[in-house]
Amino acid sequence: MTTRLYYDNSKLTDFSARVVEHLTWDGHPAVILDRTAFYPTSGGQPADRGMLDSVPVLNVAVRDTDQAVVHVLAAPLPRPVGEEVAGAVDWPRRFDHMQQHSGQHLLSAAFERLLKGHTVGFHLGDAVVTVDIALPNLTPADVAPVEELVNRVIWEDRPVTTRFVTDEELAALPLRRQPAVRGPIRIVHIADFDLTPCGGTHVSRTGEIGLLKILRLDHRGETTRIEFICGGRALEDYRRKHAVLARLGTMLSVGWWELPEAVERLLAEGKQLRLDLRRNRQRLLAAEAEELAAAAVAADGHRVVWRVFHRRTMDELRRLAKELIARPGLVVMLAGVGDERTNLCFARSADVERDMAALMRRVCEALGGKGGGRPDFAQGSAPTTDQGLVGVALSMHRTAA
Ligand SMILES: [Zn+2]
Repeated sequence: MTTRLYYDNSKLTDFSARVVEHLTWDGHPAVILDRTAFYPTSGGQPADRGMLDSVPVLNVAVRDTDQAVVHVLAAPLPRPVGEEVAGAVDWPRRFDHMQQHSGQHLLSAAFERLLKGHTVGFHLGDAVVTVDIALPNLTPADVAPVEELVNRVIWEDRPVTTRFVTDEELAALPLRRQPAVRGPIRIVHIADFDLTPCGGTHVSRTGEIGLLKILRLDHRGETTRIEFICGGRALEDYRRKHAVLARLGTMLSVGWWELPEAVERLLAEGKQLRLDLRRNRQRLLAAEAEELAAAAVAADGHRVVWRVFHRRTMDELRRLAKELIARPGLVVMLAGVGDERTNLCFARSADVERDMAALMRRVCEALGGKGGGRPDFAQGSAPTTDQGLVGVALSMHRTAA
């Protein structure tokens, strides 16, 4: 079994150890040492990174059969069994994990104290840290006193100590939760606050956690998932949010505290503008339809409106056609020429007897496109040819005539 140096000193980063075994782990070269300061993935806390001599450590795991700590390497370690190797743990990453993990002890203990909420899950990810509390539908108002208590204990800078205990001692201790493993149990003690079994790495005084901030509550049936961050992550979060607010404040020429009202004003303004725009578009459309109807050409006892537009969407063509056929006696043929496709919309007034779908099919055939619809309203599209506007116009005119 590997001697775990981090049990006694979580701040030890540089150490020497003897190679005990070379092996392959998940397709990578790996070594087991007689002792290590590297923390392996366990108990919700991710593994350390760092170096063994000049070889990067990609991951650290525990071998189930004998609890040996396996260092998974980027390349084979050029040292035979029995030789010494120099280990170096990536300290910023380890310290981040210590801050988050120690903060979790405080948070879980505070939920227990104030709300009798048991912790049933813990996850320490690269971006988010979560605990699952066995209480449904916790609100921001419920958790505010918990966050307050945790930060008070952080600022009181209480000592955090660890020790191994015998089964008899264990039975007598008022633990927050029972140990999940057998054998000698390691107890983490936050003075006058929390006593819990844990094999992880912790700060030695609560002040090192710096700050704990709850970010989000996620309701999951009978439990509430609490997303939070501590220490360096909280500072980074503050930096980024402050930068966003400062930028928004500059954009809207208000102080950050005035942003909600400023954004509300903008949203209301946008809503009003969209309403005005829709109204004016409708007016414009009515005027355009009036003009087109007046210029319609007489043919076969009805009048034909045909027009080719540059860049007009199918939706715009449909609206205009609908506006036009509200009048009696009209056959309407509209096209919108785009860079790649030309949109076509044909329609007729209710009192005109003419199959616009059949007409659409004929025009589409001539243009190499596709289209169809009802006898009174049809639409289609065709590739825009080199002839562009003129080609479409001629084709429509020819077929209609
Ligand atoms: Zn712990």
